[in-house]
Amino acid sequence: MTEPYLEVRDLFVSYGQIAALRGVSLHVDPGETVCVVGPNGAGKSTLMAAIAGGARAQRGGVYLAGQDISSGKPEDIARRGLSLVPEGRQIFSTLTVAENLKLGGFMQGNAGNARWMMNDLMDLFPILRQRANYPAGRLSGGEQQMLAIARAIMTDPQLIMIDEPSLGLAPKIVDQVYEILAEIKARRGVTLLINEQSSARVLKYADRIYVLRGGQVQLCDRAENLTDGEAIKRAYFGFDKEGV
Ligand code: ATP
Repeated sequence: MTEPYLEVRDLFVSYGQIAALRGVSLHVDPGETVCVVGPNGAGKSTLMAAIAGGARAQRGGVYLAGQDISSGKPEDIARRGLSLVPEGRQIFSTLTVAENLKLGGFMQGNAGNARWMMNDLMDLFPILRQRANYPAGRLSGGEQQMLAIARAIMTDPQLIMIDEPSLGLAPKIVDQVYEILAEIKARRGVTLLINEQSSARVLKYADRIYVLRGGQVQLCDRAENLTDGEAIKRAYFGFDKEGV
């Protein structure tokens, strides 16, 4: 059995009186695509923030390749091979597409390798090559999401965490984003952890799915065991309901 690349053990995170995570355990094996699905306020963003060093746990631990990173600083965790694409993308809208990518490369601390990476990325995202000198704020929502993902890859991560890549995008564009993620995985062998509010897309692309609600894992299974959507629906709402 391979050691999980990422392991979260019994994690508790609160904001003052608000308990956002209440004993969450999760693992991601090397090369897997794991999706965390859950409604608004389930704790998905908090989980990613806690893994990336942006939120402190009151209890529990986070382990990357067996090393305890629970009290690591975000920049140290990033240097260990973990890259976060935050909700809302957070690109620099007045900088050009190329400048946004270079900023991602700075974190890598290797200009030569960053140049190689930039070329490789432009092959993967031809639209970013076309738009290289555009201010990033003029890109469409889908293009901005592609840019945010491309920027995350500039640090040459082993694990990319993406918080709600579908947010605000038309279904066709969401499919394009997921196709690109599948291509990145095939080319670079990265491991993916993805948050989504809806399970519609992730069932097709994920290896395993966790349903998070009320700061707790309600369900965890391989995607092929969840294709009819019924178990996800029950876990997501806590009862049977249409339309997840
Ligand atoms: P969304 O899809 O809306 O981003 P989520 O599943 O990512 O939801 P979180 O954003 O992690 O959920 O929020 C989990 C809980 O923690 C919610 O009750 C939320 O209101 C609360 N929360 C999140 N961030 C903060 C904060 N900075 N201060 C106080 N409460 C917070």
